[in-house]
Amino acid sequence: MKIDIPTNHPRYSSLMSREKIVEGLHNLVVTESGLIAHGRGESLDYFLGETTADFGREACRVAVAKLLLSNHAVISVNGNAAALVGQELVALSNATGASLEVNLFYRTPGREEAVEALLRKAGATEVLGVGEEASAAIDELQHARRIVSPRGILIADTVLVPLEDGDRTEALVKLGKTVLTIDLNPLSRTAQKSNLTIVDNILRALPLMVEAAGELRNRPRGELQALWDSWDNKKALARALTYMAQRLLVLAQEQA
Ligand code: ATP
Ligand code: MG
Repeated sequence: MKIDIPTNHPRYSSLMSREKIVEGLHNLVVTESGLIAHGRGESLDYFLGETTADFGREACRVAVAKLLLSNHAVISVNGNAAALVGQELVALSNATGASLEVNLFYRTPGREEAVEALLRKAGATEVLGVGEEASAAIDELQHARRIVSPRGILIADTVLVPLEDGDRTEALVKLGKTVLTIDLNPLSRTAQKSNLTIVDNILRALPLMVEAAGELRNRPRGELQALWDSWDNKKALARALTYMAQRLLVLAQEQA
């Protein structure tokens, strides 16, 4: 069901994102469990104040530096990411040279094709991980969750896995890949296990990453490498948790 949301509504952006997720559900792009994952993300966004914090902005830049430095970077696209920021994922792929690969937790019939169609409509010229092309497997995982592209995630040195599941993140790290993620929950296993975690809403992070790619793409490699070398993910997660905790304390004091 489509609803008209006035742009001055205090929760406009949140309501619009729900609309996108529900539309994705009807187009096969999103699964039922994607609705739950979205709700979990939104609740954490309250703690962040629904804005990008400095650690999120920095993480976006460093993640883009790593995508630019990598020999074979892949952007792994699941249903929620495609539904929320399909256009921006294609723009990021174009700006960094990273490949796009459909990587679904639930490969139900027609779903990967639906995600591919969405990305192609947004301008993607190549989409890996669909149908016969997804012919390789990651040993650490089971069933459909193992399937990857032999030209994509299988041979990637760096993988951006926005809104990813903890098991898959762990498997990629075990395989020696550099794993970058976007996750509003600093305590999720994905956030904890990744080499770099952008603690922010994917809706805000992706446009920032596209912007950073435009700014960083012509910088010397040494400068990009220095950015990457300076990143300490444990410290970044600690900053995110401290930020949320302090914000909640201030809000609590305001209630009293
Ligand atoms: P894990 O398996 O890593 O412990 P999980 O089981 O809590 O995580 P999943 O459902 O597997 O989570 O993955 C979804 C993750 O994406 C959650 O951590 C959720 O907070 C986060 N998330 C959902 N929507 C968004 C969004 N719009 N922006 C950023 N993160 C989001
Ligand atoms: Mg999980």
